Amino acid sequence: MERGATVPEFQNPVAGFGVTFKAMFKKRLTEQYPEEKKPTAPRFHGRHQLNRHPDGLEKCIGCELCAWACPADAIYVEGADNTEEERYSPGERYGRVYQINYLRCILCGLCIEACPTRALTMTNEYELADRSRESLIYTKEELLAGLEDTMVDTPHAIFPGMTEKDYYSGLVTEAAPGTVRQTAHSKGEMPQEAAHTTGENEPAAPEVIER
Ligand code: SF4
Ligand code: SF4
Repeated sequence: MERGATVPEFQNPVAGFGVTFKAMFKKRLTEQYPEEKKPTAPRFHGRHQLNRHPDGLEKCIGCELCAWACPADAIYVEGADNTEEERYSPGERYGRVYQINYLRCILCGLCIEACPTRALTMTNEYELADRSRESLIYTKEELLAGLEDTMVDTPHAIFPGMTEKDYYSGLVTEAAPGTVRQTAHSKGEMPQEAAHTTGENEPAAPEVIER
């Protein structure tokens, strides 16, 4: 202590516990995650999803606009031509390879704004952590929406008598009776039976392109 400094007054040692006692009776703010998961806001930006038309055909046309819009360079797309023997979307092209690298993605949503067909949207799923780089590069099979009752898995034929425009006008509401899945050949794609929307327990990626 410096010469001439005054000695501090004696303070009640119990007074400091006042703050502790007050906090003890306040409502606890600690979240018990992951045992208790709170729902997100409805428009929360979570994991992406590649959507389907009501008959199961894919909405993605492989245009790459989402990849160009991405500021983090997290999306990789390769488009390919549909054929009558192997059709994945109603129009000319479809997304043959589709990957999102969640080590890069900042969940900004610019890609879904850029998508001209509403093929790409975002879910509320936020549990995007894992132990390996490969498992955080989500492939098309992982991102593709699951099948609903009205749908048949791709590849399959377009609804008879309908055009691509009719699909976007909402005229196709289910798969045509008798629609069967075509045999996928030549394009090196994994069968999509395993596609679902939760992102867990996914099959290993058939071809992960590292960027
Ligand atoms: S949410 Fe943003 S960062 Fe993530 S893939 Fe889309 S554009 Fe890229
Ligand atoms: S998700 Fe949309 S923007 Fe991206 S390639 Fe497919 S159609 Fe184009």
